[in-house]
Amino acid sequence: MTEPIIDLQSDHYFMGEALRQALRAYEADEVPIGAVVVRGGRIIGRAFNQVELLKDATAHAEMLALTQAEEAVGDWRLTDCTLYVTKEPCPMCAGAIVHVRLERVVFGASDPKAGAAGSALNLLQFPSLNHRCLITPGVREPECRELLRSFFAAQRAKEPNAAGQERANGDGKGQLAGE
Ligand SMILES: [Zn+2]
Repeated sequence: MTEPIIDLQSDHYFMGEALRQALRAYEADEVPIGAVVVRGGRIIGRAFNQVELLKDATAHAEMLALTQAEEAVGDWRLTDCTLYVTKEPCPMCAGAIVHVRLERVVFGASDPKAGAAGSALNLLQFPSLNHRCLITPGVREPECRELLRSFFAAQRAKEPNAAGQERANGDGKGQLAGE
């Protein structure tokens, strides 16, 4: 197998598209995470986190974007696709990414507590699973992280109780980890 060409210009561009999705989440009062799936230089899936809107804990940006991409390809296999997501995928999304046999995952902000692309654990390159993905971390990381930071700061300012809950959880990152 030949190594795919990793074009950093394109990574920057497509992460910008994922950031646009994350902004839509922000505007909808959802945790601001966005994702796009790219195949042959074309976006075939794009979504933002919609857990609250859909009242569905599985409605993470990655899950919704992967489903769209499967529909576009007409197959559950996304072997020649790249996922761009503003935050490191959680274990659920990483599991889905392995199931669809995605070629590469590019993410912005890492998640030390729950990230499953190398931070807390690495399901994308797990030795006993039958598929492994390439991982490109930290693309446009400051922008991705700032969006999350300002969202949670605004949430805390809006709901004084939320701050108390977070303190009860031990630190300010409890909500970020749980999305
Ligand atoms: Zn997820």
